[in-house]
Amino acid sequence: MNATTLSIGDELALGQIDDTNARWITERLAAEGAFRVEHRTVPDDRKRIVQAIRDLAELSELLVITGGLGPTLDDLTRDALNDCCAGGAAMVEDSLARETLDRWFRGRGRAMPPSNLVQAQRPVNARCLDNPHGTAPGLSADLERTKVFCLPGPPREMRPMFEANVVPFLRERCGDVVMPTLSVHSYGMGESVLAERLGERMSRDADPMVGTNASNAIVTARIRTSGPRLEAMARIEAMASEVERLWRPYAFGRDGTTLAMATIADLKARQESVAVAESCTGGLIGALLTDVAGASDVVLGGYIVYSNDMKVRAVGVDRSILAAHGAVSEPVARQLAAGARERTRATWGIGVTGIAGPSGGTPTKPVGTVFIGIAGPMGERVRRFRFPGEREVVRDRTAKAAMQWLRLAMMGEPDTDLIWAHAEAPAAERENRDHA
Ligand code: AMP
Ligand code: MG
Repeated sequence: MNATTLSIGDELALGQIDDTNARWITERLAAEGAFRVEHRTVPDDRKRIVQAIRDLAELSELLVITGGLGPTLDDLTRDALNDCCAGGAAMVEDSLARETLDRWFRGRGRAMPPSNLVQAQRPVNARCLDNPHGTAPGLSADLERTKVFCLPGPPREMRPMFEANVVPFLRERCGDVVMPTLSVHSYGMGESVLAERLGERMSRDADPMVGTNASNAIVTARIRTSGPRLEAMARIEAMASEVERLWRPYAFGRDGTTLAMATIADLKARQESVAVAESCTGGLIGALLTDVAGASDVVLGGYIVYSNDMKVRAVGVDRSILAAHGAVSEPVARQLAAGARERTRATWGIGVTGIAGPSGGTPTKPVGTVFIGIAGPMGERVRRFRFPGEREVVRDRTAKAAMQWLRLAMMGEPDTDLIWAHAEAPAAERENRDHA
């Protein structure tokens, strides 16, 4: 089934907020078997809303609208829908919607502002949709062959209303045919190499269809198919397992899984623990890991050791090593990892030192140079990385590389090629060392 979506609001038209509703709805539509053929965003302008409803209804059997159902003068969706489905005839008060409004305000011990009454109004041939999470009921109406749903803008009101009203409509219309998608995420290898591994599976007429994309250095395979629900689900599940096998050991999770979640899960499965000593990431790795619910089982803690003095006093880095090699160096990363591990008695220690920029780079250690150390049962390893990009990018990639490398070390594959790892220092630095 073809579907269209319409987002209404000045703040969306002006780019002041992200249109997360459109993204969420589109994904849910596909999962339930409806393909969104067009989307439009219009400001709070009655004429433009009317035009958009007419255009989109022409293109699809289902139109899902969000926003503009509030009680204020800039909420015009109700009027626009009335123009389209009732020719602008006087609206009627919906007794159920009125009751819900009264109850909402009574329950909060507040008098209803008169402006809220408009929310109980509906076009004579439309239906009100219950909103358990707010005051704005939704609306649904038929425009010739198109079913139109108007849902409130706030995502926490919109989503349950979508599930309760649009999904049953889709199940009835699309029957058992769905378009499920599944993603597999990876970190540590370039998109083209990973795409090569997928080979013909990426051909545009393959089923399931597999596409890749890279975002913030995470390369994702997006798998999709369509067909009867159980059969389609089994097909994408099988393909996801195949992608995971082909992307070994770089694949780390599916759909909403982050690298930090995967790292925590791996530590939990092994009943092992980790501690960090971070210089250039300033606690980012610790923050990402502890963002994950349940991290306390496996994350013991860490040290933010930005100054040389802190590196010495908090984690036990040798002053002489700092003096001889500089803070951004292989032996310092090694001592940071080992120090974090020993002082916390964690199974694993991560040590990070680098130059995030924009200043501080030298010819031998340009901005983006980062040493990551991992200390664990297999001893200590340090790798030199060179990350391209701005300060935030260098810090982000460093944190991801540290987590992924820890996962690889846990799998017993600490020497796996990682795209930004450089075995060798630039020539100039090797010369320096030779003369030292
Ligand atoms: P409205 O129903 O137009 O009064 O919208 C109320 C609020 O819902 C807005 O201020 C936004 O915070 C949120 N909102 C509306 N439309 C969207 C959208 N398309 N995506 C995400 N949030 C939205
Ligand atoms: Mg609005």
